Amino acid sequence: DHVRKAVIAGNWKMHMTCAQARAFAASFRPLIADLPDDREVVLAPPFTAIPTLCRHLAGAGVAIAGQNVHWEESGAYTGMISAPMLLEHGVTHAIVGHSEPRKYFSETDEQINLRARTAQKTGLIPILCVGESDDQREARETERVIHRQVEQGLEGVDPLRLIVAYEPIWAIGTGKTCAAEEANRICGLIRGWVGHPEVVVQYGGSVNPATIDMLMAQSDIDGVLVGGASLDPVSFARIANYQV
Ligand code: PEP
Repeated sequence: DHVRKAVIAGNWKMHMTCAQARAFAASFRPLIADLPDDREVVLAPPFTAIPTLCRHLAGAGVAIAGQNVHWEESGAYTGMISAPMLLEHGVTHAIVGHSEPRKYFSETDEQINLRARTAQKTGLIPILCVGESDDQREARETERVIHRQVEQGLEGVDPLRLIVAYEPIWAIGTGKTCAAEEANRICGLIRGWVGHPEVVVQYGGSVNPATIDMLMAQSDIDGVLVGGASLDPVSFARIANYQV
């Protein structure tokens, strides 16, 4: 019953110079030449590699995302990047609320909501990341935490031009993938909280070529957000070519 198109997204984090992005594109392009049309591929390089990656993946059917986006369209915000700056390069998506800026830059649900709203208003598709920490999971607060992140992060946001990524923090970069059935259960809850059956809900957290098929076989997992394994063109291409 997959009416929703799958979205396979890679988040490069603070990896990849332009030279490395160019080499990635050269290897990756032929490996995704025959992707079935039931899925979309998105890559989020560092801001500095966006023009290079757009140029070298032109016509390959890969959408480009910002790893974050500011809520103002311009202003006195040293070090930040706005939606018009991304759109000018052909960027179509923006990750907001990733656990790393939530942790290292103390981003709040309120700021993340502003980012998501500005993204949509300017024509970018926000990829809102939500997920519980290890401590929160141990304390059985998973559902309450994610419900709050969804409710506050998505206030005033249109569910039709939106991706939500369920990323349990304990599974990010740790090699511990959340069990597929549990990830599916949480993704289903998120869909219910968003309140629209067509919202695309991804799973993220140590996704790799060995776990992708099982994850994509779940009814409420519409795609994945991939960190580490998206840096290797062969691994990320295998993930994009998942089979259910
Ligand atoms: C991420 O950062 O969004 C992520 C899921 O990372 P990894 O795949 O490396 O766990």
